[in-house]
Amino acid sequence: MHHDYVTHLECSETGKHYPKDEPHNLSEAGKPLLVRYDLAKAKGVIDRGAISARGGGFWKWRELLPVADDKDVCRLGEIDTPLIDVPATAKASGATGRVRVKDEGRLPTGSFKARGLALAVAMAHHFGIKRLAMPTNGNAGAAMSAYASRLGMESYVFAPDDTPEVNIREMALQGAHVFRVNGFIHHCGALVAAGKDKMGWFDLSTLKEPYRIEGKKTMGLELAHQLGWRMPDAIFYPTGGGTGLIGMWKAFDEMERLGWIGKRRPKMIAVQAEGCAPIVRAWDKGERHAEEWLDATTAAMGIRVPKAIGDFLIIDACKESEGFAIAVSEASIEAARVRCAREDGLLLCPEGAATLAAMEKAMNDGLIERDAECVLFNCGSGLKYAMPDGSRVLDRNAEVDWGAM
Ligand SMILES: *Cc1c(COP(=O)(O)O)cnc(C)c1O
Repeated sequence: MHHDYVTHLECSETGKHYPKDEPHNLSEAGKPLLVRYDLAKAKGVIDRGAISARGGGFWKWRELLPVADDKDVCRLGEIDTPLIDVPATAKASGATGRVRVKDEGRLPTGSFKARGLALAVAMAHHFGIKRLAMPTNGNAGAAMSAYASRLGMESYVFAPDDTPEVNIREMALQGAHVFRVNGFIHHCGALVAAGKDKMGWFDLSTLKEPYRIEGKKTMGLELAHQLGWRMPDAIFYPTGGGTGLIGMWKAFDEMERLGWIGKRRPKMIAVQAEGCAPIVRAWDKGERHAEEWLDATTAAMGIRVPKAIGDFLIIDACKESEGFAIAVSEASIEAARVRCAREDGLLLCPEGAATLAAMEKAMNDGLIERDAECVLFNCGSGLKYAMPDGSRVLDRNAEVDWGAM
């Protein structure tokens, strides 16, 4: 057992309190619930140096996580993900400051969805839930199926039928019941809601239960630790449901209350693809809620989210941090992906490449200083997505034209 500092859950819109000792989905107001801790009590007791010196990746932050009982913790080799300099790409983008990629593709199941789902599955296990379900664009379902199977729980996933094949097969291999659906992620979400009574499953959709945010929050804790409890100037985050951006923003607030960091915050920059940019559209109109984006198209599947239930939390964080929301074209995403792989040897996923394209665009548009210290989030392994074929065929039986190599 670890010390449990959780006091209650709180509606992100109305502030209404909910008890921590039973499972929850959305609040009565239909909004995400946030986990609250007794940080004043924790402040005098927990030590950032001692905690950050532990192993175990994101599980090390136990005092700031809701999982108190060791029997609910499931480990698949979680690590602190590296911060990797990309000097050639940064220079080509016109950046003069330090630009680093936080490469989340190295987590179990190849994406940062492992952070959120490890926590959500652990809490479901804590409450004795046996069957889980979610809509997914691939990575979330992969993480859920792995952690659920490991803890002896059943999982059902509903994915748009054009989800990367690797993810579809990975989920099934890891024990999930996988369904390909002729629609988008929110259509898949509607199926999960519709089947709830008949199937008796617990809905782990992003932000529709309170614990995935807590897992993704660890990106903020880990980043602060890696930067010596200092904040970068800007964080570019590929935004679908926005759980990671909301989670990091929450982590910064909690760390300030603990006296771990000061008041300074990075500009939080929500990056979307031009083919699916509901948050950017709302931001540009000065609105706090985003309307559904129709006919969403982008190869960056993780950010192909036409409607986000936490829209107002994303927009609030961008505003309070003096950041913004920005959309980038498919061509610029692909160009950024190719350049970073070719010149810096780092293969990004399309969502990660979108943050690089967004940094370049924001600098060109004067939205951010060229010498800003930037952290770009590459949230999944580039290996999971289709790649252009740059190879040629060679017949070993014919004469090889070495001059044409
Ligand atoms: C899920 C996902 C995102 C979007 O994350 P949110 O926190 O839901 O906005 C971005 N990139 C990849 C690779 C993802 O799998």
